[in-house]
Amino acid sequence: MVAQVLDASNEQIFDFRSDTLTSPSDAMRKRMASAEVGDDFYREDPSIRALEDLTATILGKEDALFVLSGTMGNLVSIRSQVPSGHSAIVSATSHLHVNETGHLASICGITSQAFSTPGGKFDLGELMNFAKIPSPNAPRSVLTPPLKLICVENTHNGEGGRCLDKPYLNQLKRFADERDLIFHMDGARLFNAAVALSVDPSDLVAPVDSVSFCLSKGLGAPGGAMIAGSRDFIEEARHWRQMVGGGMRQSGIMAAAGHFALKENLKRLHEDHSNAKALALGLDALGFEIAVETVETNIVMAFLPKELGEPASLHKRLYQSGVRVLPPKGNRLRFVTHMGLNSDDIEAALKVIGRLVEGRS
Ligand SMILES: *Cc1c(COP(=O)(O)O)cnc(C)c1O
Repeated sequence: MVAQVLDASNEQIFDFRSDTLTSPSDAMRKRMASAEVGDDFYREDPSIRALEDLTATILGKEDALFVLSGTMGNLVSIRSQVPSGHSAIVSATSHLHVNETGHLASICGITSQAFSTPGGKFDLGELMNFAKIPSPNAPRSVLTPPLKLICVENTHNGEGGRCLDKPYLNQLKRFADERDLIFHMDGARLFNAAVALSVDPSDLVAPVDSVSFCLSKGLGAPGGAMIAGSRDFIEEARHWRQMVGGGMRQSGIMAAAGHFALKENLKRLHEDHSNAKALALGLDALGFEIAVETVETNIVMAFLPKELGEPASLHKRLYQSGVRVLPPKGNRLRFVTHMGLNSDDIEAALKVIGRLVEGRS
């Protein structure tokens, strides 16, 4: 698929705002149209079951559950494992903490302890200092909400699509086990991490109790997300999914898109990564400040030096010229690559950006 063309001006649009902006391909739509369906409330939708089985197999977990969104996946995973009144270690820049309407507090009843995670990673020393293991004879503190959960994000969107690798996740698993914590992974872009690290996705989720991932981002499905973990966890999650209005009926139509995405689109994620790398190198050459070696997946964080002008003004001119990114945060612009942008599009977009940057005066 190539970038769309504007009707009026015949100008190309390069949409780097998010990898959620892909449209289902004709092949995916055909699969959806011919999906066998049933009532999933009665667990009689074969397409839903097939997607849940495929997910459990790919991730090496006992069972999986289709949910409406990554947000619902995180909410349901956490609510079904951690009783309210507890506290959680989260990344201060995580989607869960910043971009999910505060469900951890409002629906799960959980107090968040947010730590900074440069490059996507907690400082393990800092965590150990925060969550000291009490001596066996010490009386229980009645002051603090008991710590019961640690969440990671893989890849970490807010930190530039950085990957958490197996050794690091295993360290966190030890930390969690020593303190009897539930370990949850927001793996909205889990498969980007697996591809970038050249590991089996099941290796990355082996240390966690629960994981959620999005079908609607790099995988290119029109919606939906999956959660996976133990059979007991998924049974409990089914209950909480129902409570938050996520129980569905002939939803196999959606599951068919997800199944297609896992079978067909997973294998092209590496193209998004090489396109992101090419974009980063191109932006670097144009004078943007980018740590090119930190571009591991499909997200490029580009910082605009003063010489290249005012961020809001460049953003506006980029938009008018067909290069779409979200409004800048400070002097940072985020570019996300996806299946709607091929390598020619990256080159063409860089030409547009180059013209704007050079013609700034
Ligand atoms: C997009 C995203 C989510 C939420 O997914 P939705 O399907 O948009 O609700 C959760 N976590 C991360 C890291 C994301 O990027």
